[in-house]
Amino acid sequence: MKESEIIEMFLNEFENHKLGDDAGFRKLNDSWLLITTDMLVWKTDVPDFMTPEEVGKKVVTMNVSDIAAMGGKPLSFFFSLAVPRDIKKNILKGIAKGISKGAKEYDIEIVSGDTNEASEIIIDGGALGIARRLLLRRNAKPGDVVCVTGELGRPLLALLLWLRGIDIPKEILEKAKNPKARVEEGLELSEVANSAIDISDGLSKELWEIARASEVKIVIEEEKIPVNEKVAEMSSDPTKIALASGEEFELVFTLPKERTKELSFDFTIIGRVERGRGVFIKRRDKVEKLPILGWEHMTGGLDDKLWKI
Ligand SMILES: [Mg+2]
Repeated sequence: MKESEIIEMFLNEFENHKLGDDAGFRKLNDSWLLITTDMLVWKTDVPDFMTPEEVGKKVVTMNVSDIAAMGGKPLSFFFSLAVPRDIKKNILKGIAKGISKGAKEYDIEIVSGDTNEASEIIIDGGALGIARRLLLRRNAKPGDVVCVTGELGRPLLALLLWLRGIDIPKEILEKAKNPKARVEEGLELSEVANSAIDISDGLSKELWEIARASEVKIVIEEEKIPVNEKVAEMSSDPTKIALASGEEFELVFTLPKERTKELSFDFTIIGRVERGRGVFIKRRDKVEKLPILGWEHMTGGLDDKLWKI
């Protein structure tokens, strides 16, 4: 079964749920309590260019990023760790150091943990946060501009080079090893944006999530996509890499164009929201439907033969 089929099966069984956004939410006095969980499985999710410390920190970042995408301030981190009996001490120590470093970086407390035995290393993290106003996927409005923070492409290019055994340039490796959650940006956006999502599975997939949840059409322009310079230089199809690259933890958001003036951070306008359905890309003067190029678990992962560098 594919990941999307499993999710659908569970949603069909649950009568009382609020699933379907970056984090769950519950009203708490005048604010919203946010809660999220995101798991990392060593065998499928960790390339060997990452140190255990970087992996530990990334689990914190993955979870904090989902709080940021909801416009929340992260408060707490918790986790469950499963490891094989013969795991090396220095790997465990590295993971612990990484979690600690992540908690420090995002100024959050580690509040709960559990350990268990399994045949491979699994780190299942979670985070709590609080938001004054929720940023949901389902609130994109026709007339909004579609924006993205940062530059795209490095995590996927790093993975492709690694799969082929090619040396990965330092500046490409940097983001794959040490991604950052956009917490400050999310907090600012919570005041002004209509919708947001973080890029965990690739820009194309996240745009489809917003379009589907908001029941709108999104049209982006190929030449506006902020492809990292080194990715553009090294790849024969940089747009495709940028659209598919996951674990970027950049934020994609929509808001009325005049409100973009209120934002103090750097971002790129890549398209607009219209009436209709689906996601489209404008290449020169042709508009075509955008395929979902992002990652899906349980589909055998990344078929690297499909990717030219
Ligand atoms: Mg997310």
